[in-house]
Parts: sequence; C-alpha cells; structure tokens
Amino acid sequence: MIRTCRHCQQKNRVPAARLGSPANCGKCKQPLGPLAEPVDVDPVTFDEVLRDSRLPVLVDFWAAWCGPCRTAAPEVARTAAGMAGKAVVLKVDTERYPEIAARYGVQGIPNFVVLKNGVVRFQQAGVARHTDMQRWLEDAGKPG
Ligand SMILES: [Zn+2]
Repeated sequence: MIRTCRHCQQKNRVPAARLGSPANCGKCKQPLGPLAEPVDVDPVTFDEVLRDSRLPVLVDFWAAWCGPCRTAAPEVARTAAGMAGKAVVLKVDTERYPEIAARYGVQGIPNFVVLKNGVVRFQQAGVARHTDMQRWLEDAGKPG
C-alpha cells in the first residue's frame, strides 16, 4: 500500500503485513505514524491488505451518488482515526469496482464488512456510527 509522508509528501510503499508496525519515511526518515485515515483501494491493494494484514479490516462499500454514504463517511473517518494502529479502514467505490462488492454480496450501500485474516467476521448494510464500527473491529480483533 502507498502511504504519503506528512512531512515531505514522499510516497512510501508499505507492505500490508506491516501496517500495524512503526515505519519511517524512506526520504526524510520521519515516522509515518499509524495509518489513521480511510484508504481508497483498487482491487490489487484490496487483495494485498486482505491477504497480508494482521489487523482487523473495515471495508466501507460506497458510491458518489449515495447520500447515506456521505452521511457515513465522517463516521468511517473517525473510526480510522480512533483505531489507528489497531485496524485498517478501506473504502471501495462500488461504481468503479463492482466486482469487489459482488464478492461480498453487497446490494444496498453503504455496506460495511469487517474481516480478520481475510475472513468475514461481520457485515451490515446502512449507516452506522463510529462507536459501532469500533466495536465491530474490537470484536474481530479478539482471538477466535
Ligand atoms: Zn518524509
């Protein structure tokens, strides 16, 4: 996954398996800090994160025309900030990548899927609050 350095804007390639570990910018050597914002993904990055991430993953399936998705977006962003270093938050544009949405049987959006080690642990359609999203991720992060 590509992460942009806050200090020098350098784009750094960070393996999905190491998203929960500290990493420094390859150019200015400043810490990149934990991933604290939702990441818009394409199918390649989506698969990489699902395959390699050791952290629970929240996926927000959305589309630009979807009003409730816009309502949910700040909640998704708050979840990514609140769970920085403990979870990864991805956004999938269902207009651009309907094949990803189809894999998870997404019909109505917004649709939220929580995965751990590539396995679906929770799924819900409709707007949700960031407190709910954090609870889903904390539950998915527990062993078993
Ligand atoms: Zn930098």
